[in-house]
Amino acid sequence: RGDPRLKAISDAISVVPNFPKPGIMFQDITTLVSDHKVFKHTVDIFVERYRDMGISVVAGVEARGFIFAPPIALAIGAKFVPLRKPGKLPGEVISEAYELEYGSDCLEMRVGAVKQGERALVVDDLVATGGTLSAAIRLLECVGAEVIECACVIGLPEVKGRRLLDAKPLYVLVEPR
Ligand code: AMP
Repeated sequence: RGDPRLKAISDAISVVPNFPKPGIMFQDITTLVSDHKVFKHTVDIFVERYRDMGISVVAGVEARGFIFAPPIALAIGAKFVPLRKPGKLPGEVISEAYELEYGSDCLEMRVGAVKQGERALVVDDLVATGGTLSAAIRLLECVGAEVIECACVIGLPEVKGRRLLDAKPLYVLVEPR
């Protein structure tokens, strides 16, 4: 936790008040990824953690999980599997709904993308309530994969969400400033 890279990562995230709606403090990682050094630090920390854990699948959550999951997958020698919003994936899919603050949404995964017994890491940019990650975990477990951990760059201090993850380990790099 004394890693100086974490401060650089935290400093590179922009906070945009009242986006996309009033009352939301939006954590914007586009400023992080536009600094190649800090983007590399971010990916490196995850790769150092996961390279020797026998992970065969890195599942990224649409949309901002798609920014971080592929470089991690390439570096640790795992496949990248996109978990997409409804109606985007062709062929046979499985779906999991999850609750949002107002209403609900859904994630989909291609049938056959992940096999029984595979070891999976789930990646997103940020965890708030944990509802999104919980749906991702259910998709992977539905096909018999084992979710080893969920990894996010930012964790909002909404601890009730961590309980939604149903005792799955959660690894976050920074909290909002
Ligand atoms: P949750 O399902 O409540 O854990 O919400 C996490 C999802 O919503 C992630 O995919 C985030 O990208 C997005 N999200 C929620 N709150 C914020 C926020 N304050 N800033 C940026 N993204 C957010």
